[in-house]
Amino acid sequence: MKKTIVLYFKGASKDQPIVYRLSRDFNLTFNILKAKISPDEDGLMVLELTGDEKDYNAGIEYLKGCDIVIEPIERDVSRIEEKCLHCGMCTTMCPTYALDVNRETMEIIFDASKCIGCGACVKICPPRAMVINL
Ligand code: SF4
Ligand code: SF4
Repeated sequence: MKKTIVLYFKGASKDQPIVYRLSRDFNLTFNILKAKISPDEDGLMVLELTGDEKDYNAGIEYLKGCDIVIEPIERDVSRIEEKCLHCGMCTTMCPTYALDVNRETMEIIFDASKCIGCGACVKICPPRAMVINL
């Protein structure tokens, strides 16, 4: 099986060798699609994991034990155009460049076909222009 998940780190959870452990102890192959981790802030990582179901579930339990919040990527995300201020904050988080700057107009373009539904932009958008469609 292959799944893409978003990991949200707080405090000491950022210091753990989680990718190494997922590979060594749970036989999972990983692909880091995005990582934004700094000493002073909460961190985020978008991770694609491949392995058998038993190992995947064990790996997820290990991550939960590290006090990491995990969200699967299976959601439909859209933008409420009239709310967007084109501040650009979402472009720093988007792992797939679904949100990107048009250098000519300096507007932020949302290309839904590139969106993998990670939800990172939803959390960071000041006017709540990015929304998850339930
Ligand atoms: S963070 Fe929100 S308001 Fe700012 S450019 Fe992105 S969608 Fe628009
Ligand atoms: S949910 Fe937002 S941050 Fe994630 S891929 Fe889609 S547009 Fe980018």
